[in-house]
Amino acid sequence: MPKIDRLQQPIRRQTREVRVGRVVIGSSAHVSIQSMLSVPLTDFSQAVAQAERLAEAGCDIIRVAVPDKRTAATLKEFRQAVKLPLVADIHFDYHLALAAVDAGFDKLRINPGNIGDPERVKAVAEAAKNREIPIRIGVNAGSLPADLANSPDTAQAMVTAALREVEHLESVDFRDIVVSMKSHDVLATVRANQIFAEMSDIPIHLGVTEAGLPGAGTIKNAVGIGSLLLDGIGDTIRVSLTGDPALEIVAGRHILRASGHHVRGVELVSCPTCGRSRVDVESIALEVERRIPIIDKHIVVAIMGCEVNGPGEARDADIGFAGTADGFIVFEKGEVCGKISGECPIEAIIKRIEAFIMQ
Ligand code: SF4
Repeated sequence: MPKIDRLQQPIRRQTREVRVGRVVIGSSAHVSIQSMLSVPLTDFSQAVAQAERLAEAGCDIIRVAVPDKRTAATLKEFRQAVKLPLVADIHFDYHLALAAVDAGFDKLRINPGNIGDPERVKAVAEAAKNREIPIRIGVNAGSLPADLANSPDTAQAMVTAALREVEHLESVDFRDIVVSMKSHDVLATVRANQIFAEMSDIPIHLGVTEAGLPGAGTIKNAVGIGSLLLDGIGDTIRVSLTGDPALEIVAGRHILRASGHHVRGVELVSCPTCGRSRVDVESIALEVERRIPIIDKHIVVAIMGCEVNGPGEARDADIGFAGTADGFIVFEKGEVCGKISGECPIEAIIKRIEAFIMQ
């Protein structure tokens, strides 16, 4: 059965819908992009600055680790300082989950099995339900329950662990659930999510965890998250990379776009250059990427090296530039609409793109 429709968009799996602040996860809502602060909240000003950088990069939801009472004491102030929806990541201590709910956080990431006592799970679920905030059950291959940890089928073990946690929450009548099943192993991640998607209508948070440094880690996430998105599976994503979390947002935006999902901002098309190239495509493309901010609409900008093959892609873009012996031919919406010549074409190109955006 085809998983991509005639408009080249993935046919989404139907799910229940949950709300994380102003962001909807599931059903037909846009697939959102999340990241996690690498700075502890106890380093308050740095944490707020990192959250602001994530927002500028296009992040939809920010998760923060809440490992202890000292961190919990900062939650209210942090909630007031940051505009994006916030998720509190809690392990073991249900008091910390209650503190996050009380502080106005928009979602919890917990595993009820880690909290243990059913009365404590119930207390957290009731608090979340009263404030209408969802809970993500986050299963990682590296921290499966003891009876599943040595299973030869990691994907099935992750699904089993996730379903147990779902049962915990649904047994106390809590249904605003999101599930993630992540491994550093791409195939195990993909298979676990495929199995779960067949069995449940719960929205899925996708990610390949502990994927490594931005180069190889981005590729692992692109293959894992991207293949699931192309099958219509996945309602929110987090690209897990070692390094600046803003890079996770950049990678997430590229993965969503390449998978046919709505992503606002400029989509850059540029040729790889060859012996026919008339202009410095790389410098111009880098400058366009650096200087054009994330805008609310989606436009395609093409930077092509020559007038042989360049015009084809440049015509297909919303605004395109094809290199010539003395500058560029400019295309807008498929039509030639001028030329750029002279010593420094970058400024002229940026101005043309800015003017196009303002139309
Ligand atoms: S557009 Fe022109 S310069 Fe760029 S790769 Fe194609 S033929 Fe080469």
